[in-house]
Amino acid sequence: MRDEIIKAVSGDGFVSLTAVTSRVMAERARDIHGASPVATAALGRAMSATAMMGAALKSEDTSVTVRINGGGPLGTMIAVSDCCGNTRAWAANPAADLPSKPNGKLDVGGAVGSSGTLTVIRDMRGEAPYVGTVALVSGEIAEDFTAYFAVSEQTPAACALGVLVGTDRSVLASGGYIARLLPGAPPELAEALETNVANSGAVTPMLLEGGADMLIERVMFGLGARTIARAPVEYRCYCTRARVIDAIAGIGRAEIEDIRAKGEQIEVKCRFCDASYRIGTDELT
Ligand SMILES: [Zn+2]
Repeated sequence: MRDEIIKAVSGDGFVSLTAVTSRVMAERARDIHGASPVATAALGRAMSATAMMGAALKSEDTSVTVRINGGGPLGTMIAVSDCCGNTRAWAANPAADLPSKPNGKLDVGGAVGSSGTLTVIRDMRGEAPYVGTVALVSGEIAEDFTAYFAVSEQTPAACALGVLVGTDRSVLASGGYIARLLPGAPPELAEALETNVANSGAVTPMLLEGGADMLIERVMFGLGARTIARAPVEYRCYCTRARVIDAIAGIGRAEIEDIRAKGEQIEVKCRFCDASYRIGTDELT
C-alpha cells in the first residue's frame, strides 16, 4: 500500500480534515538513518504532520520545514515537505534509544524532550518566509502541533499522530490527521468534533483497520463528510549534484584551495537521503 493524503470536508463545510498514511515514508527514514524504534516513531510522527502541512500549501515550488528541538537524546529533528506532501526527515541522533513507557508505548516524548521549541518555516519562493515558533508541550509531537495551530496560527485544530513499530523494528503503521474548525462554525459542531476525536482513540488501530479513509470515517462521524482530494505521497529528497556544489562553495576559498593543493576529492553525504557525492575540486569555481 502506498502512502497517501486525503482531504475531506464536513457537509456544512465548517470542518476540514486532512489524513495521511506514512508507513512507507517512516520505513524509508528508518532505513536511511538506521533509526531506533523510538526515533523511527518520532520521525514518522513529524513527517506525517509536516506532509499534511505541505499538502495545504497553495503553490508549486513552495515548501514547509518543521524543526523540533526538545533537548532530549534524539537531538534536533527536521522534516521538510514539498507542496504536495512528499517529505524527508533527519534527526541528530537517530540511534538514540529509550526503554518503552510502562504502558508499552514508545517514549517519543522522552526521546524528543519537552524543553524546547517547535518551529515551522514556510518557504514561499520569492517572498519572505513565514516563521512560527511555539514552546513544546510534551515532545509527543501531536500535542505540540495542536499547540502550534492554536498559538501561532490561531486556528482551533486537533492533531493526532501515531506510529506502530513491530518487534523486528519495521514500521507496521504510521499516519495521522489534522482536523480544523473553520471560522463561523457553530459551537455544537465543535462539541461533535471533540466527541468524535475522543471516541476514535489512537490512530494506529484505525490505520491498520482501514487506512486514512478510516480516520476520516471516525473523526467525521455523523458530519456528512465528503472526500475532496486524494493523492499519493512518498519520501522524497531534492538533493542534486549542483546543489551540493553550491553548498561546498560556501565553505570558503582557503579550504577549497587547500583541498585542491592536496589533489583530494570532497565527499558529501546528503543528510536527508542515502545519496553521496564525490566532487572533484575542478568542479568548484
Ligand atoms: Zn538527498
